[in-house]
Amino acid sequence: MHSFGIDTRDPEEYIARLGHLRFAKLKRQIAYVFGNEDYYRRRFTEAGVTSPDDIRSLDDFRRLPAFLDKARHRQSQEESLERYGHPFGLHLTAPLASVVHVAATSGTTGQPTFYAFTRKDLNITNMVLGRLFAVAGILPGDTTFHAFGLSLWLAGITFAQALEAYGARPITVGAEGGIPKILRYMEYTRPKALFATPSLLSQLIERAPAEIGKPVAALGIKSLVCAGEPGVGIIAFRERVTAAFGAKIHDVTGGAWHNGTISCGGPDYHGMHHLGEDYVFRYDLVDPETKQPIAIKDGAVGEAIHTALDYEAAPAFRNATGDILRIRVGECPHCGHFGTRMEIIGRADDMLNVKGAKVYPSAVQEIVAGFLPEVSGQIRIRLNGPPPRVEPPLNVVVEAGETLAPHHWEDVARRIEQRSREILAIRPAITIVPFGTLPRTGGKTKLIEIAPD
Ligand SMILES: [Zn+2]
Repeated sequence: MHSFGIDTRDPEEYIARLGHLRFAKLKRQIAYVFGNEDYYRRRFTEAGVTSPDDIRSLDDFRRLPAFLDKARHRQSQEESLERYGHPFGLHLTAPLASVVHVAATSGTTGQPTFYAFTRKDLNITNMVLGRLFAVAGILPGDTTFHAFGLSLWLAGITFAQALEAYGARPITVGAEGGIPKILRYMEYTRPKALFATPSLLSQLIERAPAEIGKPVAALGIKSLVCAGEPGVGIIAFRERVTAAFGAKIHDVTGGAWHNGTISCGGPDYHGMHHLGEDYVFRYDLVDPETKQPIAIKDGAVGEAIHTALDYEAAPAFRNATGDILRIRVGECPHCGHFGTRMEIIGRADDMLNVKGAKVYPSAVQEIVAGFLPEVSGQIRIRLNGPPPRVEPPLNVVVEAGETLAPHHWEDVARRIEQRSREILAIRPAITIVPFGTLPRTGGKTKLIEIAPD
């Protein structure tokens, strides 16, 4: 695994040396984005910075407020469309003619946010993604199978191109090819690795016997690479899928502004290794309420501010991602690699504050998922008023597993409360309801319900 030329095994020293490496690149990037009068120069001015030389250290940089977030990104795109006739934002820092690749995310509002790449940005992206492919056990010359949505999404064309640049022959059927076609083309092409969302993997397992007359294990896939949805961090899912395919499973994030992370495929989950450390500062953590910087050390939790260190087109520069990350610094218990890892534990706008303890609904859901199959995995958090402040106890409704007899409910509820106490440092009030009570929705389920006044 890549170690960025840093050979220490002391966590504090490691972060200090990363900081040194980053700041050298960051100084150039600060001067570069400062030249962008339409957008970034204004943000610096608002923050009281009149010259790039005012930022003398990484700490100075970390004290700056966020300069970009989803809402500002979209606003910037609307303004550039109006003013210059392109949607890449007023923060497009390179000439439009040098933008050679475009990706987008649609988010929940349906409005796209675009990612623009110059040739150089694309080359670095391909290289960082190549580091992920290596950790997934893929070698140049291998056949890979691309079954993510095959469009302008980062995991779509951007990943497919990176696989080609790496030399790993992607078979690009894409999720929209449909389950029967994906299964048949895998039979024809015998890929070593499959790129797909967790929910697509579940469907392939279910439908392979009917569609191709054999289980997915017979396809000979050695490595599963997931993105787009949680799942790989949940032990019940991981065990089921790795057993069914006879393959290792990895989850990744990457493609945006030189970010690249991947889990290393062990039986236990230890988060995703950061493999773009020399090109991105992905976890400049701040307190989600006060927005003050949090010390970067093993176990730190906070909202991630994303800055690309060497990016030309329309770079993330102090971009508030809204992701709440937990950072690990040290030796990975599975693969032994020394470096930083992260887990995405929630979204800043979901955060609850229960008498000073920060609680993320997804973290509660993960604890409950640890009790499968005694529970179904469906939960709702019921609040009496608007978040984030919650008067204890935190009320959580948990659906019983399909076969759990009602006389066991009380015991399961107490054990979930106990486990929450150990992990979240709060004791929620758990109410068990019968299987099938909580409505299933397509896509992302809202975990929080607020009682009407
Ligand atoms: Zn590892």
